[in-house]
Amino acid sequence: CGIVGYIGKQQAWPIILKGLKRLEYRGYDSAGIAFVSSNGITSYKKAGKVSVLEEFADGKDQTGTVGIGHTRWATHGEPSDKNAHPHFSGTGRLALVHNGIIENYAVIKETLINGGHSFLSDTDTEVLVHLIEDIQQAEQCDLTEAVRLTLTQVVGAYAIVVIDKEHPNQLVAARKGSPMVIGVGDDEYIIGSDASPIIEYTKDIIYLKDEEIATITPDSIEIRTVDNEIQTPFVHRLELKL
Ligand code: GLU
Repeated sequence: CGIVGYIGKQQAWPIILKGLKRLEYRGYDSAGIAFVSSNGITSYKKAGKVSVLEEFADGKDQTGTVGIGHTRWATHGEPSDKNAHPHFSGTGRLALVHNGIIENYAVIKETLINGGHSFLSDTDTEVLVHLIEDIQQAEQCDLTEAVRLTLTQVVGAYAIVVIDKEHPNQLVAARKGSPMVIGVGDDEYIIGSDASPIIEYTKDIIYLKDEEIATITPDSIEIRTVDNEIQTPFVHRLELKL
């Protein structure tokens, strides 16, 4: 339902938490955040309101300058802690948030289970992150290429953001049929499923287009299509009359 991502110099947790609150108006049943630090990926996720997540994580480790957050509106699998996003890959190397529906998830899940994968949730989403890691290992390719190859196999609508503990200074985002907005700050990027989590940090916005994949570091963004054509990012200046 709602997505927030952050990469930059600031602590990601409070920015993502606030962003998820800005997206509450869309409605949701669960919330979760994952972030990368030198300890690897830490994730907290809970059924219920963002405030439940906030209380749950209070006093726990929240260190890390790269992270992803999600408010879920369940389509596959009941609202519960385990079905809340982020979801993890088989080895725990990758974490992913997803808006939308993966229509052919059952076929992909069966193939992965036959290949030795086991799943922790009932969501359509979890197959995405398992498949990305499977391809990453099989092809020995980088995360962007693994996401790209995965998306060539996926039928459905999605906005996704992925983090990789082996490459902690990077976010990979992609969309098709589900909105994704990237705010361009000063050596930082804030991602949102709409602009509301972004506007207090920057008015410079890139609207990711259908079937585009963005590879984002604190000081760079590269966009390519699912067909692997490099695109020139177009930065819009939001003019908000308040
Ligand atoms: N289909 C996914 C799920 O049920 C994502 C739903 C959403 O867009 O929040 O977990």
